[in-house]
Amino acid sequence: MNAHRQKFYFTFLAWALAISANVVAQVSDADQKAAQAINETTIRSHIKFLSDDLLEGRAPGTRGGRLGEKYIASQLELLGLLPGAKNADGSVSWYQTFDILGVTSQVPKTMSLKAGAKTLDLKFRDDFIAFTGEQKPAVGVKDAEIVFVGYGIEAPEQKWDDYKGVDVRGKILLMMNNDPANDPNLFAGKTRLYYGRWTYKYEIAAKKGAAGAIIIHTEPSAGYKFQVVQSSWTGEQFELPQTENAPAVKMKAWATDEASKKIALLGGKNLDVLRARAERRDFKPVPLGVTVSLEMTNNIRSLKTANVIGVLPGRDPVLSKEHVVYSAHHDHLGIGTPANGDSIHNGALDNASGTAAILAIAKAFAQMPAEQRPRRSIMFAAVAAEESGLLGSQKFCADPPVHPGYLAANLNIDGVAILGRTKDLAIVGIGKSSMDGLVKEVAAWQGRVVKGDEFPDKGFFYRSDQFNFAKIGIPATYCDPGLDVIGKPAGWGKEQAEKWEATHYHQPSDEYNDSWNLEGAVEDAQLMFLVGLKVANAEQLPSWVRGDEFEAARIKALAERK
Ligand SMILES: [Zn+2]
Repeated sequence: MNAHRQKFYFTFLAWALAISANVVAQVSDADQKAAQAINETTIRSHIKFLSDDLLEGRAPGTRGGRLGEKYIASQLELLGLLPGAKNADGSVSWYQTFDILGVTSQVPKTMSLKAGAKTLDLKFRDDFIAFTGEQKPAVGVKDAEIVFVGYGIEAPEQKWDDYKGVDVRGKILLMMNNDPANDPNLFAGKTRLYYGRWTYKYEIAAKKGAAGAIIIHTEPSAGYKFQVVQSSWTGEQFELPQTENAPAVKMKAWATDEASKKIALLGGKNLDVLRARAERRDFKPVPLGVTVSLEMTNNIRSLKTANVIGVLPGRDPVLSKEHVVYSAHHDHLGIGTPANGDSIHNGALDNASGTAAILAIAKAFAQMPAEQRPRRSIMFAAVAAEESGLLGSQKFCADPPVHPGYLAANLNIDGVAILGRTKDLAIVGIGKSSMDGLVKEVAAWQGRVVKGDEFPDKGFFYRSDQFNFAKIGIPATYCDPGLDVIGKPAGWGKEQAEKWEATHYHQPSDEYNDSWNLEGAVEDAQLMFLVGLKVANAEQLPSWVRGDEFEAARIKALAERK
């Protein structure tokens, strides 16, 4: 065989093996039987209870929220799981109880900027929004210099550094939103990575010791209009209490594209020219010669809430130290302004349904015969305060019940299929870790196909709880229900999903309905069960794709195992 033919032969062989691997049953009869413990009745009954009006929308710190937490803990206890949280005194508990702070900033009507003798006043709401970065009654910046830092990204794995060692301590960083999108080989092309999320921008500014950051709003880079920025940043924001030495900026701000151009122009610069330069690796920060002053006063209140955590110990004496974590947020929006006479945000789909799914998965694991139980331990974390900014999962990951190096993987569920069985399934943030392969394997065994999510540019992977797990290095997976509904015409599923989004998402009408067809939810939960089981029994831990943004955190966590 000549080299060319040899190469062809091996390519063909690899392809044939890959095909047969998909066709051969990847799930044993015993495991299949265990998965069948997940059924419609289990999922439906949990949703019905958790989304009942009596729980008043399960907002953090409310009686209804607390009732939801109690219910979940009771269910895990009934299944024979062990409490998975630790109290400060070292005793175990079902509850990882923690405080969240509700912060409201009062911002003056104008923000004043100066460049020598020239001045510029920007109008609050119309031109900019600002919010405190510190949890103190009064926070301000005085004559702080503005530096344009392009995307403000520092990404060693992409060989990208917008700072180039320039000291930006005490400065206000004017930053572009999103990440470089023009080169398919950089920052996953048009897919938004974490570097492209606004949360990253404030975090990196804090890490660099900056006094504040102003994100330049454009509709393409944000994916939404400035009105969304105005409405989401002018009311109460929820945060975990800041720890003493954690870096924080004083001011978090956004400015419209037009206002940002005016800021640059005040310093004699053309923002479009600066932005074009920022598309390149050799970009360096540009001081604008402009200073800004702004004083804010803040109201701060404190609420208590809890993650509910249960564990099924693995059967292997060594591997049982490692845990596969299933997560779903149990909170929702509570009681709001009435819509059609209803003020209770039941959050039946969002996320009584995901909570119900992990409880059903817990039941399937708990019912396995002892000798068939997974080698690694399985942890169930119904996390709190997702709607307040992923705070429960943030708390879990900041203070995990076991060291992150012993958390094998995260499988998160936020919303289940209510339209029936589907031929497909979507991995949100596809292409990041070896978890994809396991999802594909089980989906193929179910006779289904796996797709990426519809809007990779919106960065949905970073907008639910799996993100916090990923951030501390844990290979995390999150699937959206399929849209190709069996027995329905093409496009029907997508149409229904869009209709749901437009009429019920985050509305009091997100209520349980007997007409929901949960057969697809059952199949998806069985898939998640089988994927978690594979992780729990595998020789090797799952891993990030080489060069992934979260790989470095994983390497660090594994190296720190004791
Ligand atoms: Zn939600």
